[in-house]
Amino acid sequence: MSTEKCDVIVMGCGGFGAAAMYHLARRGLKVIGIDRFHPPHDQGSSHGETRIIRKAYFEHPNYVPLLHRAWDLWEDLAEESHQPLIERRDLLLAGPPGSEVIEGARLSARLHNLPLENLTREEVFRRFPMFNLPQDHEATVESTAGFLRVEDCVAAHLDLAQARGAQLRCGETVQKISGAPGQLSVRTDRATYSAGAGVLTCGAWTSQLIPDYARLITVRRKTLFWYPIQSADWGDPLGAPIFFLDLPEGQFYGLPSIDGRTIKTGEHTGGETVENPSTLERHVFPEDERPVSQFVSERLANVESEPCRSAVCLYSMSPDGHFLFDQLSELPLVVGAGFSGHGFKFASVLGEAAAELIQQGGTSLDIDFLSINRFAKNTV
Ligand SMILES: Cc1cc2nc3c(=O)[nH]c(=O)nc-3n(C[C@H](O)[C@H](O)[C@H](O)COP(=O)(O)OP(=O)(O)OC[C@H]3O[C@@H](n4cnc5c(N)ncnc54)[C@H](O)[C@@H]3O)c2cc1C
Repeated sequence: MSTEKCDVIVMGCGGFGAAAMYHLARRGLKVIGIDRFHPPHDQGSSHGETRIIRKAYFEHPNYVPLLHRAWDLWEDLAEESHQPLIERRDLLLAGPPGSEVIEGARLSARLHNLPLENLTREEVFRRFPMFNLPQDHEATVESTAGFLRVEDCVAAHLDLAQARGAQLRCGETVQKISGAPGQLSVRTDRATYSAGAGVLTCGAWTSQLIPDYARLITVRRKTLFWYPIQSADWGDPLGAPIFFLDLPEGQFYGLPSIDGRTIKTGEHTGGETVENPSTLERHVFPEDERPVSQFVSERLANVESEPCRSAVCLYSMSPDGHFLFDQLSELPLVVGAGFSGHGFKFASVLGEAAAELIQQGGTSLDIDFLSINRFAKNTV
C-alpha cells in the first residue's frame, strides 16, 4: 500500500474538523480530511437543524473574545457560501436567584460590555407569554445571540475547503496515529498517509484514537425533540426567543424551529454514559421523552405535549465542562475535543486557531484556558 503525502491530515470532519479543513485550505496548505461517515451526518454531535450561539457566556467570561471572532467568521462563511447560516435572535435566560446561568451571563456581560436586559417574572410573562417560569425565577434577555444552521455550516466549510483544493475521504476510518515531532503517520482501514502535522477532531470517538483522553472525556447520549405549536399565542414563532432555563427539574434549552411550526427543545443536563459511540442506542424511548414532554407541558404555553420528531445526539463531556483544545507535545497534532454540549458555536474560531497553530506555531487567540494541562495526569 503506497503512502499518500500532504501538509495536514484532518481526522474527523464534523463540526470542528470541517472548520479546520476550511481554515487550513484558505492558508494554501495541502489538506486531506478523513471521516468514517459522510459529513454532515446524524451519527455524531453536529446535527439536529440548529445550534444556539450567544455571547454573554455564563460558562466563563474567557470565552467571550472567542465568541466575537466566532460570530464574525460565521458571518463571513455565510457570505462566502451565499447561505443564511447564522441568524440573530433574542435569548431568554432564566434561573433561581444565584443561578450560575444568570450570574455567569451577567459577569460576562459586565466584563465585556455586552447588553443584557434584566426582567422580572411578570415582565417575562408580559413580553413572552409563552413561558411559565417558577415564582422565584429571575430572567435576562441577551440581544447578541442567535442560531446557526448546523448541517449547512458543516457542509459550507467542507465545500469551500474542497473548492480550495482540500481532499475529503468519507467512509474511511482512522485506526492508528503515530509519528514524531514534524512527522505524522496515519493508518486507516483503506490507506496510509503521512504529513507534517494533523488535526484530530473525532468528537465522541477521540479516546479510541488517543487513549490518554479516556480519563478526560465522558460521552453522553442526548435526545432532542420537536413539538408542534398549537396557537397564535406564539405570534410569529420565528420572532420568539431562544431560551435556556435553569429549572429545579433540570436545564432546558430550545428555539422555534426553522419551519416556524414547531419548537425544538431538549434537556442540557442528564444523559446516559456511552461506552462506545459506534454501538449507541439510536432508538428514542418513552423514558427519553418523558422529562422533556413534562417540561413542555409545565413551562411552555400552547405547545402540544407529544413530539412530532426526535433525534439522538452525543455530548463529549470534559471533567469541568470546558473544552479540551491543545497541541500535543509527543506528536505534531492539534486535538479539539470534550466540547461538553456547548461547542458548535466555536467551531469557526477554533478551526482558525488550529490552522494558525499548525502554520505559524502559535495563535493570537487566547485559548490557554482550554489546555489539557489544567488536568494533572494523576488528578483525573
Ligand atoms: C443535542 C445537542 C445540542 C447541542 N446544542 C448546542 C448549541 O445549541 N450550541 C452549541 O454551541 N453547541 C451545542 N451542542 C454541542 C455541539 O454540537 C458539539 O460540541 C459539536 O457539534 C461537536 O463537534 P465535533 O466536531 O467535536 O464532533 P462531530 O461533529 O461529531 O465530529 C466528529 C467527526 O469525527 C468522525 N470520526 C470519528 N471517529 C473517526 C475515525 N476513527 N476516523 C475518521 N473519522 C472519525 C465522525 O464521523 C464525525 O464526523 C449540542 C450538542 C448536542 C448533541
